[in-house]
Amino acid sequence: MEHSLSPRIFRRVFQDLGIDAHYTALRVEKHELAEAIDRVRRGSLAGLSVTIPHKEAAAELVDALHPSAARIGAVNCIARSPTGHAEGYNTDAPGFRLAVEQSGARLAAARAVLLGAGGAARAAAFAAVSAGAKSLTIANRDPERAIRLGLELVALGRAWPEGELLRRWESGERAPRLNVSRALGAPSGKCFVSAIPLESSALVHPLSHADLLVNSTSVGLGDPGALPLPGGCVLDRRLTVMDMVYRPLHTALLRRAREAEATCVDGLWMLIHQALEQLRVWTGQVAPPALAASLHDELAAECG
Ligand code: NDP
Repeated sequence: MEHSLSPRIFRRVFQDLGIDAHYTALRVEKHELAEAIDRVRRGSLAGLSVTIPHKEAAAELVDALHPSAARIGAVNCIARSPTGHAEGYNTDAPGFRLAVEQSGARLAAARAVLLGAGGAARAAAFAAVSAGAKSLTIANRDPERAIRLGLELVALGRAWPEGELLRRWESGERAPRLNVSRALGAPSGKCFVSAIPLESSALVHPLSHADLLVNSTSVGLGDPGALPLPGGCVLDRRLTVMDMVYRPLHTALLRRAREAEATCVDGLWMLIHQALEQLRVWTGQVAPPALAASLHDELAAECG
């Protein structure tokens, strides 16, 4: 899907901003990724967007990582430095933050519940703690993956562990992704973070105190009837509900949120904002806010 939408987004952006550039979708197999990145170093490509499943491999292949891409461990945007180095960025994190803020909600001081612990969830989790969220509950089908993400946030000094995560931290468990010297620091930061299974018995309480609910699982992708939220979980109008899934745009979760009169944010907003962040990385140009809204109007119908 992204392969078809991103060229549309950039064609419109280049046209509106008068940028003489062309953006095209390339199918790149795993063994071809290093060569694609080399084209950025050589200057035959001005930049590269990286999509699933190459985001983590790209982080290993670039010459330098922007700090947030290093923390998240994934690169979705590559730019050429003036000295010809390939620099890796992650624009999913600011794309997520800007999509939430577009709705009038704020990540700062938010009590957030995040469904999922995969790549997209990692970007959202690091964005939330960086923006000063008050609490973050990570709920995942595989709870160990949520624990690992939570431990990384704590080890970076961004969050304070709670519940099972605190128990694991106190027993000396550390996130494998981080090196030992950084991982041995004491917890710090203002965001209370917990990791739970994606089950109603664990979710009902944090959800009842939350002001932001984010679906970053792939549940709902291509299936308008699939709900990532377990039965027994109730939404209410105080919530802002964001679904990263954008095909279909009107997911079961967002329909449920709308019925509860909650504020809804669809995944197309994040897709557009992360693309506009890529534009900023490549050209230094900041797109006017009206362009994001206009792109959303233009592309919404295509998401189904
Ligand atoms: P990953 O494969 O890295 O992670 C998938 C996540 O979904 C995991 O947490 C996984 O849980 C969970 N999951 C998958 N199937 C189920 C299920 N049946 N029940 C419960 N949980 C399930 O994918 P990404 O993180 O990269 O992407 C996740 C979603 O976000 C996709 O729909 C993608 O399209 C969307 N996305 C949207 C973006 C945007 O700009 N709008 C940007 C990036 C992603 P477990 O760990 O237990 O397997």
